Amino acid sequence: MIENNLITSSEELWQKSLSLLREVMETEQERSQMERYVPLITSHLIENNEYVVGFSDQFHVDWLSPKLALPLERALHAAGLPEEFHVRFAVREKQESITPATPSPELARNKPIEAQHTVASHLRSIPSTMPLHENYTFENFVRGPSNSFAHAAAIAVAKGPGRTSYNPLFIYGGTGLGKTHLMEAIGHYVLNHSPASSVCFITSETFLNEYINAIQNDSLPAFRERYRKVDVLLLDDVQFIAGKEKVQEEFFNTFNSLILYHKQIVITSDVSPKNLNKFEERLIGRFQQGMVVEIESPSYETRLAILKSKAQATQKIIPEEILKFIAENIRSHVRAIEGALARIVTFMSMQGDIPLTIDIAKHLLRDSIEEEKTIKDLSIGDIMKTVATFYGVTIEDILSPQRTQTLVTPRQLAMFLSRKLTTKSLQEIADEFKKTHATVLHGAQTIQKRLDVEPDLKKSMEEIVSRMGRKASDILE
Ligand code: ADP
Ligand code: MG
Repeated sequence: MIENNLITSSEELWQKSLSLLREVMETEQERSQMERYVPLITSHLIENNEYVVGFSDQFHVDWLSPKLALPLERALHAAGLPEEFHVRFAVREKQESITPATPSPELARNKPIEAQHTVASHLRSIPSTMPLHENYTFENFVRGPSNSFAHAAAIAVAKGPGRTSYNPLFIYGGTGLGKTHLMEAIGHYVLNHSPASSVCFITSETFLNEYINAIQNDSLPAFRERYRKVDVLLLDDVQFIAGKEKVQEEFFNTFNSLILYHKQIVITSDVSPKNLNKFEERLIGRFQQGMVVEIESPSYETRLAILKSKAQATQKIIPEEILKFIAENIRSHVRAIEGALARIVTFMSMQGDIPLTIDIAKHLLRDSIEEEKTIKDLSIGDIMKTVATFYGVTIEDILSPQRTQTLVTPRQLAMFLSRKLTTKSLQEIADEFKKTHATVLHGAQTIQKRLDVEPDLKKSMEEIVSRMGRKASDILE
């Protein structure tokens, strides 16, 4: 992906910068002047960290340099020429041919092709990158309240990689909620707008494997060098390197070096930085220094919007009521929604003449709907048990009238979670706790207030909630 994008890029880069330059010309006069200057250019090639634009004689160099060099440099940078290359006008012989996408052997021996090779080798020495999924673009990403903040941050980063304070951009959230999609969308955007950028998209697992290989092959300096040349590093699923101290240390150094040179880093994780277990404090500190954004489970409206967008892509006409049925019943994450839609689409392809009814959809999706139910319905008993285990007390303790602080917190927390995570009425909860409903209400409210001011309590609550397979963000408004 990267290679394809980059190796053919020398001529593309040049053409793109010329068209950018044309775009910024405000008057017809400026444009026509430029059209007269451009044919005077005899060559354009990279020579030692400079982008040298050639003219046939010194007169043209002296005349055009003050007018054109700076705008051209800006345009080249905007088109993707790495910032460290400056533009210089100089006397050069005419370039035989514009660099072709695949140079013939004769052409490859010609000097002008060097530009291409220099760009290519400069850019080739980047780390291995996974191909970007072609559908994971901003255009295909449906925005909703659950992801709008993350989406806005991703757009900002894509438009100005390394140039915003969102560095790193740290995106976290449960699985299947669109973290990887959003991360790859940044990659697509950057490559489309500056084809010469080196975008590296890897999982932390790949980073780990490459690191291990580098150690085994005694090539750690080359490994480091490669990563430090990247313009945009997209590191997916950072939680994978939990507890792996050496690779964390290596990443810490890579991270610092990239930030120092204003390169963009984007990281995804299934939990927020502060909840990353077995991570070095200093690394967590770094993760928090840019922008941390969460993607939450989509609301009904967003689920329906996602379904409509994905349904449109299948080119099948799926009745609105079926889409609504899926959005109502498959709530956990987007990947599950896609799976449900795929099943419906397969049915429609195979049974084209049978009209799709809600009953059929119910039948087709019965397994997923069952699964969703187990995610949705927690019993008060489950909650009491999980809370009691966490605090090292028993369910009897929670039900007892004893009012020591070691029991009051777990009891009230269990009440709070029962209010938040079940659909039981206050009276039903009170009955199960063997208390009055005023006591349950008071208990839940006390915890709600304490959560705002007691980070430790909040952490405990998050842990308990995650042990029950749920997300704390579901209950904190
Ligand atoms: P994660 O990395 O968070 O586990 P992914 O990015 O792999 O999740 O997303 C899972 C699937 O859901 C992908 O196919 C992705 O395209 C889709 N998806 C998630 N969120 C959205 C969204 N807001 N709009 C469109 N598709 C989405
Ligand atoms: Mg992912």
